Amino acid sequence: MRFAVISDIHSNIQALTRALATIDERGADKIYCLGDIVGYGGNPNECVDLIRARAALCVLGNHDMAAVDPEHADYFSRPGRIAIEWTHSVLTQQNIEFLASLPFVASTEVCTLVHASPLDPPLWQYVLSLQVAKPQFQAFSTPICFIGHTHVPGICGEDLKTFVLKKGKRFLINVGSVGQPRDGNPQLSFGFFDVEAWKYENIRVTYDIDKAAQAIRIQGLPSTLATRLYQGV
Ligand code: ZN
Repeated sequence: MRFAVISDIHSNIQALTRALATIDERGADKIYCLGDIVGYGGNPNECVDLIRARAALCVLGNHDMAAVDPEHADYFSRPGRIAIEWTHSVLTQQNIEFLASLPFVASTEVCTLVHASPLDPPLWQYVLSLQVAKPQFQAFSTPICFIGHTHVPGICGEDLKTFVLKKGKRFLINVGSVGQPRDGNPQLSFGFFDVEAWKYENIRVTYDIDKAAQAIRIQGLPSTLATRLYQGV
């Protein structure tokens, strides 16, 4: 059993189709999605349609929640709020209903799936330090918990000093972002997990950033949302 974990697509259909093509080339039994399917980018319906068709499990992201009801976007940056209000106005009823139906947490025998943090999912906490990572381990019982939200890929063991996957230890794994990487590398990011081999691989792939940036500009969304894709910030 081998599965792919994708997160933070953010209405970037160019990055999503490239990620799915890579998953299909390499082969995966299942695809799990950690949310933030929409927000920021220019193709929200296309992205939700694809996730509905391809993901075996999907959890709710803060942008998905705000796309259903933009009152949840109070704390967003101005460009983020403009994009989510536009997203809300163009999403089909079927896609709004799909986003509204997503759970905060999902799990399998192997892993817990949550957008931001297992400790308090609706808080949308950023797990970016060992201090924040530490209490998260009390909040899940599976060997692995996959998270997104920061758009920065990484892996951390329960002892807070193991950063390479090992069997017998528990790990938090951030798969990074498909549609808006923020670790200085503009290549899309996601993860592959092989259950038999107990192996995790973070994948980075180039995609058509010009087209994704153009889609943002065509919709009249803030241009910073387009330019940041080139820098991976
Ligand atoms: Zn996000």
